[in-house]
Amino acid sequence: MKTIYRTFFLLTISSLILFVIIFVKDKEFQKNPLSQKTIDKLIKKEKDIQSLIQQRYRVNINFPVIIEDQLPNNLFGLATYKKGVIKIFLNKKRFQESEQYMIDYVLPHEYAHAMMFYFKDFSKENGGHTKRWQTICKNIGGIKCDRFVDHHDILIEKLGGIY
Ligand SMILES: [Zn+2]
Repeated sequence: MKTIYRTFFLLTISSLILFVIIFVKDKEFQKNPLSQKTIDKLIKKEKDIQSLIQQRYRVNINFPVIIEDQLPNNLFGLATYKKGVIKIFLNKKRFQESEQYMIDYVLPHEYAHAMMFYFKDFSKENGGHTKRWQTICKNIGGIKCDRFVDHHDILIEKLGGIY
């Protein structure tokens, strides 16, 4: 009988310790910027996308890509157009469990939205996931260029109000 109690006690203690470790690691991740390794991968992907844009559209593009920890949990990324300024936001919280996905799928997806803004195409059809958007997304090396997604990841704010 004593062994059972001891086993139970040890199990409880080890789960508690594990819980604390996970909690601390999570907090650390929230406080710190992304690792240099992750940032390097992100920059490399940005360069790949920019060079594909240069080949396809003959323009030099460099949108600011901001790692944001204030985005809602269910939003992976966001492309914004505010008074003529185009920005891309990536949800920092999502890097923790799916770094590769954020870089290879979400970044080109948002970049394609940003390119639509660059071409002054502010179509809201299907949340901005139009045929033209899809073509751009594929042209710049996107993998997740699905037109029928259920999320809204664009924010258009022209002069004089939100459209
Ligand atoms: Zn989208």
